[in-house]
Amino acid sequence: MQVVLVSTNARKYSLEKQIVRATVPKGEQLLTLKTIQAALENRGIKPRFFPESPLKIEVEPGTFRPTAEAADNIKKAFAGVVGDNSQIVFGLSVTTENYWLYEVLSQIIRAEYPGATIISGGPHFKREELFVNGKKIHDPVEIALGNNLSDGIVVGGCSPFISYLAEGGHSFSAIREPGLFWLEDGKVAGHGWGRFPRLDKVPYSRTDSGLTILFRNACQNRCNFCSIVWSKTNYSEMAIQRTIDELASAPEQYIHIDDPNVFEPSQLDFYSRTLRAIKIPRKEISLDPSSLLVDHPFYRGISNGILAKEFGVYSYFFGRDSVTAEDAGGIGSKLRGKVKTRGQLDREGEALQRFIEAGIRNQWVGPGNQKLPFWVRVSYILSPFDTMESIIKKTGEMDRFTWGREGGHLDVQPQYQLLVPFPGTRVRRENIQHIKEPENFAGHMLNRNVWSESLGPQVSFLDEFLSEEEYYRPGIGENAPLYDDFIDDLLEKYM
Ligand code: SF4
Repeated sequence: MQVVLVSTNARKYSLEKQIVRATVPKGEQLLTLKTIQAALENRGIKPRFFPESPLKIEVEPGTFRPTAEAADNIKKAFAGVVGDNSQIVFGLSVTTENYWLYEVLSQIIRAEYPGATIISGGPHFKREELFVNGKKIHDPVEIALGNNLSDGIVVGGCSPFISYLAEGGHSFSAIREPGLFWLEDGKVAGHGWGRFPRLDKVPYSRTDSGLTILFRNACQNRCNFCSIVWSKTNYSEMAIQRTIDELASAPEQYIHIDDPNVFEPSQLDFYSRTLRAIKIPRKEISLDPSSLLVDHPFYRGISNGILAKEFGVYSYFFGRDSVTAEDAGGIGSKLRGKVKTRGQLDREGEALQRFIEAGIRNQWVGPGNQKLPFWVRVSYILSPFDTMESIIKKTGEMDRFTWGREGGHLDVQPQYQLLVPFPGTRVRRENIQHIKEPENFAGHMLNRNVWSESLGPQVSFLDEFLSEEEYYRPGIGENAPLYDDFIDDLLEKYM
C-alpha cells in the first residue's frame, strides 16, 4: 500500500481579474503533514508527499476549475509520486481558505485513480448542527462525503488516520477510535473527536528559508473566530533538544518556532530558557505571537529590544485583530477567555506603537554588535462588525505602523484579512443566517466577502476595501500615508 500525503496549502495568491493563481509549496514543507509522517513512521509506514516540487495552479476566470494546462500539470505531479502502485491511500490536509483546491485535487484523484481511497482531515472538518430559517445546514463532513470528495474524514487530531493505515487500510468500521467518519447506507457514520498521535520525535520541516519546529499547539485565549484544531500538545522540552540536534547536523540561519501564542504568561520562562539554549551562529529566530500581552514584564523586555539583543529574535507577528470593544465583541477577539475591553485594546495599540518606535530608533544590534534586521507584521481583521470608528482607527494604525528602509533591513508592515466564519467556530454558529452561502466553502477564501448585508450597511465596507486595491500600497522605503484617500472617500459616502 502506498500512502500519499497531499498538501492543499496554496500560497502566493493572485486574484487579478478574478483569475486565481496560486502556488502549492512542496508537501514535505507542511508541518501538519510532517506530523502525520512522524506518527506513521512510528508504525512502520513510509508515506510520500505531494507535490514533490512547487506546483503552480491557475483556474478558469470566475471559476475554481483549473485551466487545461494546470490540470495536466497536477496529473503529471501525481503520476510522479504514485508511480505504478495500485493500492493507494491519499491523505489530504484541508483548511477552509484552500477548500477550492481540495475540490480540485480530490476530483483529479477520483478521475485518475478510481480505486484509491481518499481520507481528509485538518482544521476545516468539524461536526455542526446549524439551521437557517428552520432548515438544517449540511456540515463540512456531510458535504465532503456527500460530494464524493473523500471516503473518510478525520475530525480533530489525526490519530484515527494512523490507526486505519496501521491496521491495513481495509475497513473504517473496524477502527474503534473516535474522530473517523464515513458514509454507511448514505448516512454519515462515526463519532467523536480524534486524538493527537503519540510521537517520539518533534515534527519539523526544512524550507528554503530555514527550519520550522512545532513547539506547542495550544492557546488559552479561545477567540471565537479561531479555527485551529486544539490539542494540549506541548513539545516544548523535547523541541529544544530536537532543535539543537537538527542544527548540529545542518546549521540554519533562521528558525521559526511554531506556537500559536508564544506570549502567554505560562510560556514566558520556558521561552527565555529555550532561546538561550538554542545556539545558532547568527541567532536569528522568528517568533509568531498571536496575542500581545502588554501587561507582562516580558513584554517590556521585548519593547526594549532585549529579545533582539540577547537572543537574536528579529521577526515578529502580532495578531492585533480588533481595535475597538465593539468589533472585538463582534468577532470574539479574546484574552484568556474574555472579550478584550476598550482599555486593553488601547494599551495594546500604544504598546505596539512604542515597540515599533523602539525598533526604528535603536536599529537593534545583536551579539558582537552585528546589525540585525527588524521585521514586524501586524495583522488586522476586517469584519461586518466593524464600525466607522473602528475602520478609521484601524486604517489610521495601518498608516502609522508602516515603515520601511532600503534593503528590507527595517520592514514594518500592517496587513489585513477579512473575517472568515470557519466551521466549528462560535462566530459561524452565532451568525450563520448572515453568511451568504454557508455551504459553499469554495467561496470562503481569504479576502472574499462572504457576509450578507442583513448584518447592516457596514458590510459594504468590506466590498469597498477589497475592490479598491489602489488604496492598499504597503511600500518599503517610505512611511507614506496609505489610507487617507480611502477614509476621505468613506466619510464622503457614509457620513
Ligand atoms: S490568540 Fe490567536 S491562536 Fe489564540 S485563540 Fe485567539 S486567534 Fe487563536
